[in-house]
Amino acid sequence: PNNTAARRIDVNGIVQGVGFRPFVYKLANQYDLKGEVANTTAGVSIHIEGPPQRIQAFETDLAAKCPPLAHVVEISGRSASIKPYADFRIAKSRDRAQMSTLISPDVSICDDCRRELFDSADRRYLYPFINCTNCGPRYTIIDDIPYDRPKTSMRHFKMCAACQSEYDDPTNRRFHAQPNGCAECGPHVDLYTNQRESVDTDNPIKTAADLIRQGQIVAVKGLGGYHLVADAQNSQAVIRLRKRKMREEKPFAIMSADLASIQKYARVRPQEQDLLSAIQRPIVLLQKKTGGSISDAVAPRNKYWGVMLPYTPLHYLLLNHGFDALVMTSANLTDEPIAIDNEDAFERLADIADYFLVHNRDIYLRSDDSIVRHSAGHTRYIRRSRGFVPIPLFLKHTVPPILACGAELKNTICLTKDDKAFLSQHIGDLENQITLDFFQLTVDHLQRILEINPEIIACDMHPDYLSTRFAQEQAGTRKMQIQHHHAHIVSCMGEHQLEGAVIGLSFDGTGYGSDGAIWGGEVLVSETTQFERVAHLAYVPMPGSAAAIKEPWRLAISYLHDAFGDAFWDLALPVLKQNDSQKLKIMVEMIQKDINCPQTSSLGRLFDGVAAIVGIRNQVNFEGQAAMELEMLAAGDMDSIYDVEWLAGDPIRILPAPIIRGVVQDVQSGLSVAEISIKFHKTLIALFTEICLAVRRDYDMNRVVLSGGCFQNSILLNGMIHELASRDFAVFAHQRVPTNDGGIALGQALVAAAKCSS
Ligand code: ZN
Ligand code: ZN
Ligand code: FE
Repeated sequence: PNNTAARRIDVNGIVQGVGFRPFVYKLANQYDLKGEVANTTAGVSIHIEGPPQRIQAFETDLAAKCPPLAHVVEISGRSASIKPYADFRIAKSRDRAQMSTLISPDVSICDDCRRELFDSADRRYLYPFINCTNCGPRYTIIDDIPYDRPKTSMRHFKMCAACQSEYDDPTNRRFHAQPNGCAECGPHVDLYTNQRESVDTDNPIKTAADLIRQGQIVAVKGLGGYHLVADAQNSQAVIRLRKRKMREEKPFAIMSADLASIQKYARVRPQEQDLLSAIQRPIVLLQKKTGGSISDAVAPRNKYWGVMLPYTPLHYLLLNHGFDALVMTSANLTDEPIAIDNEDAFERLADIADYFLVHNRDIYLRSDDSIVRHSAGHTRYIRRSRGFVPIPLFLKHTVPPILACGAELKNTICLTKDDKAFLSQHIGDLENQITLDFFQLTVDHLQRILEINPEIIACDMHPDYLSTRFAQEQAGTRKMQIQHHHAHIVSCMGEHQLEGAVIGLSFDGTGYGSDGAIWGGEVLVSETTQFERVAHLAYVPMPGSAAAIKEPWRLAISYLHDAFGDAFWDLALPVLKQNDSQKLKIMVEMIQKDINCPQTSSLGRLFDGVAAIVGIRNQVNFEGQAAMELEMLAAGDMDSIYDVEWLAGDPIRILPAPIIRGVVQDVQSGLSVAEISIKFHKTLIALFTEICLAVRRDYDMNRVVLSGGCFQNSILLNGMIHELASRDFAVFAHQRVPTNDGGIALGQALVAAAKCSS
């Protein structure tokens, strides 16, 4: 027939295991077209036949209406010869060669499943593991590829006849939904005491909710690991959880059933509303409202709550028992990875949780909740994990297979293949064996499911990082050590696909410098392959090394000694009154005799030092706490800034002393901490803008890239973007990976890739 055409359409991306073929099947039938759809290594391939106008409509819809979990990278079509086909069909996958290695992340329950969950006529009414091709677990239940039920933790559950017929029916929402199941054939929940005694109840979720309301702490097995759950309105319960978890100050995340509940205690801007209800369901930082009923102990001395909406059916069922908000914090002891295994959970959490709400669907790979905020016009990732991993970042060029091991704190790893970079889920602070085990497990697991055999291993330059040592121990593979702050900048360049040279502001807590000092207040002229350090904060000693990070008063003494010499003893400052003079003398001696005093140019440490000088705190419970509190306290209008001074040279050295002298003067004249904080922030913003102007004159470059942990400070981030933009700089900050060390593995991989191709 004349009015028939045929097209071959290839769709690349995450399009397998996400209901893409049924979607194509339905669409073809809707337009009465014939042909077939099949899986390929890159995605799916469609052969479509029929009248050209209808094929065109089909192609338009294909791009516009694809299923929620699909992540389409490219659709390409070309004319083909007519076969002809009698109908439209889904071709059977024959072997693994046809399977794509792109795997979908775990995502929140979809609207259809949620409706069925609360529909008393539905056969899955109140079933806590309801899911379909548009929602549910993926990444965390996969053991190997191809993504098929026998390769997931669902292999232990044989589908009942009703579930099987859904699974086999291409028109059904559960066609090839690997985690498909129901109360009859699928996983179920059980409630135990922390003594592993089964609690006698026919409704474990309701009983757990009752216990939580009575102030008990319940460990709840979720999607990517266990949460510790307590009533967020019950201060006693929250404080007890804090004590037991040995997490004295770090904010806890909370979960509420819906937006209306969240608006009772937090301000939710429209962009934040979108972030909260996105299918990834990250924790979103929201400004606290005054007078809400959430316990202060949830996030002490913080302007923000970390809030998420429910993402599993189990969460919805739990929150359905009338809580405004539940504390939902990763179930681990401080510094350890989140627990996922039932045995492991009972062992490690028995002293923290009173009860355990467990289920029998195994989690193969833990994945913590992601954390985001909306700042300076964009989404900023603080932790990119569940919901986002393992979606790759797409690179401008094809790169060799590389494993990048990340740094130490907030560790993630990165694997590259072709034009894709896969950043892992949050692994944690690589400071102990249990986290290192998880690191190694993640390396193995990701290499297997992504089918990547690294030719190069990239790591930090710090000789003592466990990630560096791991890299060194891998025999037979080429190693590359990448400078920490260079990796930060290149990570951000990679996100924005920038090439050539840029001005990089790498503002950070800790990073090993090429000269062995601890860097962190760095202005680099950076290309992907190399960098030049054009300016940095002048070095000060860090008395006691790592101890100075935990005890910012040590840094206060160092900065004061740097600014005033021995005259600092006469200053009337809280930090001098609060600390024993013997201890202070020891610090000065360490500084003068250079005993265990590494040199640092870290901006994070300058924040810590100023926080201690103004009297915010002498010790911290987690890295960056003092700096964070200095930011949180900033308020009011201050137009003046502190004097700044730098020494010309190569590199330029920016002196902290004039700033410290200004801060001290303000403390002594009684200016509020809020105003000093604002003034300090504004000083840094003005200072580094000046430096960028100087670099622009000398190097004739106009692009500024911002990276490093200090840019989690939104006053600094907003201020730098605003000031630089007003001087006509093109400014780039992170929007897809964290600005902290959670994003550094990407930069390491990109530097290594560029170096070996140049
Ligand atoms: Zn669903
Ligand atoms: Zn079933
Ligand atoms: Fe860093």
